[in-house]
Amino acid sequence: MLYVSTRGQAPELDFEGAMLAGLARDGGLYVPAEIPTLTQAQIAAMAGQPYEDIALRVMQPFTGMEPAHLKDLIDRAYAGFGHDARAPLVQLGPNHFLLELFHGPTLAFKDFAMQLIGQLFQDAMRRKGDRITIVGATSGDTGSAAMEAFRGLENVECFILYPHGRVSEVQRRQMTTPTEANVHAIAVDGDFDDCQAAVKAMFNDHAFRDRVGLTAVNSINWARVLAQVVYFFASAVALGAPQRRVSFTVPTGNFGDVFAGWIAKRMGLPIDRLVIATNRNDILHRTLATGEHRKDGVQPTISPSMDIQVSSNFERALFMAYGRDGKAVSQLMDELRDAGGFPVSQGALQALREDYDSGRCSEDDTAATIRAMHARTGEVLCPHTAVGVKVAEEHLAQTPMITLATAHPAKFPDAVEAATGARPALPPRMADLFERDERLTRIANDVDAMKTLIEKRLA
Ligand SMILES: *Cc1c(COP(=O)(O)O)cnc(C)c1O
Repeated sequence: MLYVSTRGQAPELDFEGAMLAGLARDGGLYVPAEIPTLTQAQIAAMAGQPYEDIALRVMQPFTGMEPAHLKDLIDRAYAGFGHDARAPLVQLGPNHFLLELFHGPTLAFKDFAMQLIGQLFQDAMRRKGDRITIVGATSGDTGSAAMEAFRGLENVECFILYPHGRVSEVQRRQMTTPTEANVHAIAVDGDFDDCQAAVKAMFNDHAFRDRVGLTAVNSINWARVLAQVVYFFASAVALGAPQRRVSFTVPTGNFGDVFAGWIAKRMGLPIDRLVIATNRNDILHRTLATGEHRKDGVQPTISPSMDIQVSSNFERALFMAYGRDGKAVSQLMDELRDAGGFPVSQGALQALREDYDSGRCSEDDTAATIRAMHARTGEVLCPHTAVGVKVAEEHLAQTPMITLATAHPAKFPDAVEAATGARPALPPRMADLFERDERLTRIANDVDAMKTLIEKRLA
C-alpha cells in the first residue's frame, strides 16, 4: 500500500514511511493511493467481535503488516482502556445514539489513535535499531494523550511543551504525573502559540532535527486518522450495518475524526450522512453552506479543542473532492495562506455535499444542550459532545444517528458544572489524580534554552 501527498510533489511512501514522516516534504498530507474495500460479508462478520479484532480487519489492508504482529500491537494499545467494549454505545432518544470515545487513559478520543501510534513507533524503531525524539506543543488534550501513549516505551523520548498556567488542572496533572523517565512535561512561560512556534523553530533547525531524530505526532499523521476509522465500523455494525445504514455527527476541529468516517464509507461501510458539527468557530460549516472557505479569527469557547481557524485535515477532503488533483490543492493552500481563503469549485462543492452535512452550535446552545440532555436522559455530556448532540438533533431522520462523544465530562468540569449545577467526578480508576506527585520543568519562552534542555536530557 502506497501513500501519496495531497500536493502531489512528494515521494510516495509506504505505511511506515508516511507514519514516520508525518507531514509530506511538499507541505502536503499523506493519503492512501487507493482505498481498500471490504465486502458486505466481511463487514457483517464483524458483528459481535471484540474491538481489537475489528481494528485488525479494518487497519491491516492499509499497513501491509503481518496480521498476528499488528494484532499484538493493537491489543497492547487498548489494554489500558477502562471499558471492555472500548467504544460503547448508549441511546439518547428513539433514533439517536452516543458513541463514548472517552474510556482511554486521558479521557478523550485522541487516546484511540495515540495509544496505537505509540506501539507502532516503538515497533518501527526496534526494527530499525533507531531512536526518535517526539516534541509537541499542546493546549491540553493532545499532549496528555501523547505522554500517556509514549511513557515507558523504548527508543522514544517525548517532550511536551504547554503554556504555563493556561491548561486545566486535570490536563496539567495528566502531563505531570506519569513517573516514567522518557516523558517530559515542559511548562513554557508563554501561550500556546509560543509553544507551537518553538516546535516549528526546532523542526526548521535541520542540524538539531537530525541530531535528536525529531518527529511529530500531530493530528495530520495518517496513522492517527487510520486508527479512528475503526470505531465507525464497530458502532455501525453494532446497530445493524451493513444491512442497516447509519449516519454520524462528529464534533469537528481539525477534521481528522470526520475524515476517518469518510474513509470508512469509501471502504464500503453503508454510511448515509456525515454531519460536521462546529462551535462558533464555524469555518467548515460556512464552507459547506456558501462554498467559500475563509478564515475569520479564532474565538475562545467552552469547547476549546474545536477552536480552530485552519482545519488541517480538511486538505485531505479537498484532495478527494478535487479528484485527487495535487496541483489544484497546492494552489488552494497558497491562497489560504496569502489571501486568507478561497472559493471551492462548483464540482468540488457538490462532491463534498454528497457526503457531508454541517451545522454550528452557539455557546448558549452548548450549555443548554448539556442541561437538557442531563434532564431528559441523565447523560452528562462534555461541551464538545454537546455541540455534536445539538447539531445531530437538527439532522435526525429515518437512519439511526450516532453522535461521537469525544471527551469525558470530568475533563471540562467548570463548563459542565455551570450548565447542570453538579460537578462531574473523574472515573474511579483515576480518582487519585489530584493526590499524585507532579513532575515538570518550567522554562522561559526561549527556543535555545529548550533545545539545550532536550539535548541534556537525551545525553
Ligand atoms: C481534538 C478534539 C476534537 C476535534 O477533533 P478533530 O479530529 O480535530 O476534528 C473534538 N473534541 C475533543 C474533545 C477533542 O479533543
